[in-house]
Amino acid sequence: MLAHNGKKVLAPVNGVANLTPDQKYFQIKQDGSWSTTSPYHFRQFDFVTLLESFDEGALYSLDLVETPLKDYFQKFKKESSFKIVLSPFCRYQHLNFEEMILRDMKDAYLSFIELLKLIYPKAEVSNFFEIPSLDFEHPNGIPEFFLHKQFHQSVDKTRKSLIGHEVLFLGAETIFHVLRKLYYNEPFTKRHLAVFLVDRKGRMDLEPRQFFLTNGQALAFIPANLDKRYKIASFETVFEEVTPMDVGSLGYFNIYEHYSITLYEKLPAARKEFSCIDCMECNNYCPTNANPVQLIKGKTEEFEKSQCISCGICTVYCPSGIDIRKRIEGVVV
Ligand code: SF4
Ligand code: SF4
Repeated sequence: MLAHNGKKVLAPVNGVANLTPDQKYFQIKQDGSWSTTSPYHFRQFDFVTLLESFDEGALYSLDLVETPLKDYFQKFKKESSFKIVLSPFCRYQHLNFEEMILRDMKDAYLSFIELLKLIYPKAEVSNFFEIPSLDFEHPNGIPEFFLHKQFHQSVDKTRKSLIGHEVLFLGAETIFHVLRKLYYNEPFTKRHLAVFLVDRKGRMDLEPRQFFLTNGQALAFIPANLDKRYKIASFETVFEEVTPMDVGSLGYFNIYEHYSITLYEKLPAARKEFSCIDCMECNNYCPTNANPVQLIKGKTEEFEKSQCISCGICTVYCPSGIDIRKRIEGVVV
């Protein structure tokens, strides 16, 4: 167990720990493989022991930014009425966690729902698991958008309900790690990393590849085990701003930041911006009608920034290669 600025971090075995250069994270270099196959073990929790378990397991929300689960649950009081929303998706849905939970952890999943009802008796649990008509499509994994779609409220309102703790939101990847800690006694020291391959023509290989890696584990083995054609890598999805890097400098797995990696045969083409051709694709594809074209027209005040969920879709679909995402960053605080 390591401590820094009052925060405790669990270190896996056989590791050497130090701080990353920005002093934000502990980095644990492993010199041995670490895996466990703990069986399901039902345990009864109350509010206090649940929070202790979150703390001990170093659990974070993987849906909200930098939110330890212990702090998050403490914002919700036993005697208060609020909504608990269980989403079957995670932010970029790199893997199907709902399927994994229902297939491999069903008892734990049922126990956890009962536990939520027990510790928050006045809360209304809205569980969106096991609804066959709910298919993932980006940006369904973004919490405020998921709530907007399911409860037919404006994005502005759902964002406020998250910030104001009227909704306790748990996405499927967060739930997966909660179940592992509570009922399999596995702390949050491992996370899945999905691997995608893109050939020189820009085609993505859809064969699913994933690793379940330990925080701080060196990532050099990934390109070393793949075809040597793949020389460039990035940790971002196509909907985010891609920062390409050489596969030889992947460094170490950061459990809080890394969930997917894309390996390219050649550098993704640098975006070349052409003039706006008024095709309106950005507006047509915008899932929240935020009117992003106005940013390009210089009418910033007509862009509905409170509706924007920074999903990146407008930038992906712009045929002129205009980085609308960058313009949004300039106006959304
Ligand atoms: S303006 Fe762009 S980033 Fe914002 S919600 Fe619409 S498509 Fe997404
Ligand atoms: S998608 Fe691009 S080119 Fe088309 S209207 Fe929007 S900004 Fe202009």
